[in-house]
Amino acid sequence: MISPKFPSTFWSYEPILELVGKKALMPPLGLITVAALLPDTWTCRLVDCNVRPVTEEEWAWAEIVLLSGMIVQKPYLLELVAEAKRRHKPVVVGGPYATALPDELREAGVDFLVLDEAELSLPPFLEALARGDVGGTFTAGGERPEVTTTPAPRFDLLDLGAYDSMSVQFSRGCPFNCEFCDIIVLYGRRPRTKQPAQVLAEMDRLHQLGWRGTIFMVDDNFVGNHKAAKELLRELIGWQAARGFPFQFDTEASIDLAQDTELLDLMVAARFRSVFLGIETPDAASLERTFKHQNLRQPLLEAVDAITGSGIRVMAGFILGFDGEAAGAGDRIVAFVERTGIPTAFVSMLQALPGTALWDRLTREGRLRDAGTASGNQTYLANFIPTRPLSEVAGEFVGAFERLYEPEAYLDRTWRYCLALGATRRVAPPVQGVALSTRELVKTLPALLRILWRQGLVRHTRWRFWRYLASVIRRNPGALTEYFTVCALNEHFLVFRQLVRHSLELQLAAVHAGGPSAIGPEPVVAPRPASAETCVSGGASA
Ligand code: SF4
Repeated sequence: MISPKFPSTFWSYEPILELVGKKALMPPLGLITVAALLPDTWTCRLVDCNVRPVTEEEWAWAEIVLLSGMIVQKPYLLELVAEAKRRHKPVVVGGPYATALPDELREAGVDFLVLDEAELSLPPFLEALARGDVGGTFTAGGERPEVTTTPAPRFDLLDLGAYDSMSVQFSRGCPFNCEFCDIIVLYGRRPRTKQPAQVLAEMDRLHQLGWRGTIFMVDDNFVGNHKAAKELLRELIGWQAARGFPFQFDTEASIDLAQDTELLDLMVAARFRSVFLGIETPDAASLERTFKHQNLRQPLLEAVDAITGSGIRVMAGFILGFDGEAAGAGDRIVAFVERTGIPTAFVSMLQALPGTALWDRLTREGRLRDAGTASGNQTYLANFIPTRPLSEVAGEFVGAFERLYEPEAYLDRTWRYCLALGATRRVAPPVQGVALSTRELVKTLPALLRILWRQGLVRHTRWRFWRYLASVIRRNPGALTEYFTVCALNEHFLVFRQLVRHSLELQLAAVHAGGPSAIGPEPVVAPRPASAETCVSGGASA
């Protein structure tokens, strides 16, 4: 089993992984779940290319090669397919990319395509293999499995020390209907949840294997079913308390979380540390157009403040390029982020992903660009012709990104946010604050020293860093770990914003050379702020 590399993205965090001495952010949960579904008679070896390359010995040993990946991993996955075929190995591919674009993989020479969710499509593949078939495509036939029968992933196949976080999945699917979203296409609108006992068994396994620290609940929407999430959290709190709270959690959720105080309190008590919210835009008209109605039920500022006040750090996604969007959307996003203080704001241009309602509509309207190439990468231009000039949207995107991650602005926002973070955190037993156990301290000390070195000595913002650190210690010591975490992220964003600008400029030049890029007149490229790069140790990486 081979997991392809990820390109450099907003979420790849390479400089931070270096700071904390890790190789990759999270393990390939899909592949280790498939490994648990394979017959006991199979011997599996797993190589995550984000950790290390496949050795010659491993290539020679393998009788069959199984690959899985997302669209964003496509180039690396195709390289692995070519390498396996060069070595005359049968190749099996599953996962989101294969499910969305199987023809590309057929053309690449893949032997077996195991599409949709493996609980249903893997058994017919295994039967075909046992019959002696040498190829085929296997699907779930439009069905979706209950995840109550999904076995615990084979965490034992992982090199645990290589990862910053572990991943655990509680649910699949989301009840909402955002036009651009491929989650509801792949996993449906009825959230399917595991039983609490199943999730706790996975926690037990990770605990036995020696994992301590962060677990990312990789659900599409952890609160897609509030009732089921609460049932899990009640059990999880007891499990954590009985073991001295060995884990802390990050996750993704829809913004209706903010209106359910009981759910928020349970998440805080279970030690959820941060949550990613798809805010998308502060423009109500765009939210209406993209059918993100759940973001209109409560003022967005109020919702973010409620989650921040509970003690859970908000990370948020924003999108530019919705149909009918008025000029200045980038400025409005920056103003929203500054007002809420959200340190980690992920901005991208709208992408149409295969199979989504957006993709279908744009296809009907003849607006997909480059035959509708979808990269899934935020450093790419919109893959369709927007209703305002593409270069105007791109200019706002680059400008917003540069302003949000201008070092002084980022530190100012981080400081304000840490002071606002969580009354709960201040009154609850400090889990992530100053009260670290000796074991945790020993583990985190090298990373902490490296952060202090980079942020407190090397960067030109060092005095601001120390001033804010003193202020957080004095005024909200429970937020200290978050302050260090968010400052460490700055190491990545400093570099990544250069990559965004460079990548978008190259793509825009190509578009200008090749044809129309908007419905309407094409203006000159919107001016972007002068680079305020301050990274002493170097410029952009690619
Ligand atoms: S809330 Fe998130 S996961 Fe759910 S449909 Fe919208 S974008 Fe998709």
